[in-house]
Amino acid sequence: MTTVAGAALAEAAALLSRARSGIAFTGAGVSVESGIPHFRGEGGLWTKFDPYKVAHIDTFRRDPAQYWTYSLNHRRMDAEPNPAHRALVELERLGHLRAVVTQNTDGLHQQAGSGRVVELHGSSHEVVCLDCEARLPRDQADRMNREHCPPSCPACGGRFLKPTVVLFGEALPVAALRDAQAMAMAADVVLIVGSSLQVYPAAGIPRMAREHGAELCIVNAEPTPFDDLAAVVIHGKAGEILPQVVGQVAAL
Ligand code: NAD
Ligand code: ZN
Repeated sequence: MTTVAGAALAEAAALLSRARSGIAFTGAGVSVESGIPHFRGEGGLWTKFDPYKVAHIDTFRRDPAQYWTYSLNHRRMDAEPNPAHRALVELERLGHLRAVVTQNTDGLHQQAGSGRVVELHGSSHEVVCLDCEARLPRDQADRMNREHCPPSCPACGGRFLKPTVVLFGEALPVAALRDAQAMAMAADVVLIVGSSLQVYPAAGIPRMAREHGAELCIVNAEPTPFDDLAAVVIHGKAGEILPQVVGQVAAL
């Protein structure tokens, strides 16, 4: 394990340049430099709110209007991908990443241009009716919400339209989890970026990859419980570190 930044950058670049079936595993930290707050760790949202109260499926079902009123007043529409998202696009273009497996729901990997993104925790850009399972784009639900809060399902009239974001108390989407597990078992390298690696079952993906022989490279602002399992660990900001690492990969 390496924690000295200069040498670690070169080690990370060497590791990634050997990757033939690599995947990136990303968390909220990769979007912090795009202005989206993360949850756990220093400055995280969960140091201010109780997640089991605000982000639990039972809370949503009890009072969907509370969620949609919050959304009306606070939803950020202007976040843009940052250099970390773009560096992962470049690493895929160089042939060292098969996919980005993300816990994020913000859509910024797709916006940056990543070709294959597996969303383990759903998307804030898509809404599902909890009664009839009809899906609709978030923009449509937002327009309906501005006319009548909370919006109701255009297909069945149901009262529970919810972003496909996985709330506490909900299961992960089966297909995404299955795809991520298959890629983890086949991966030679996993580049982990901006995740506290404390949220399961998502954190089981890099763990499964390690158990099947993949090498781990971690880029995170703070230490994680997986640091001792990793070949390379770099503590720092993803938007500063990743472009340097990928720049070195491109030059090799
Ligand atoms: P987390 O909040 O548990 O951990 C984020 C990690 O990123 C922390 O360890 C923190 O030290 C690190 N970090 C903060 N800024 C960083 C930076 N600039 N560069 C590198 N690392 C940085 O996030 P998680 O592991 O993804 O788990 C949280 C859950 O919350 C996930 O399930 C996710 O679905 C959800 N979430 C998503 C978003 C989003 O879509 N952007 C935002 C917040 C939370
Ligand atoms: Zn419906």
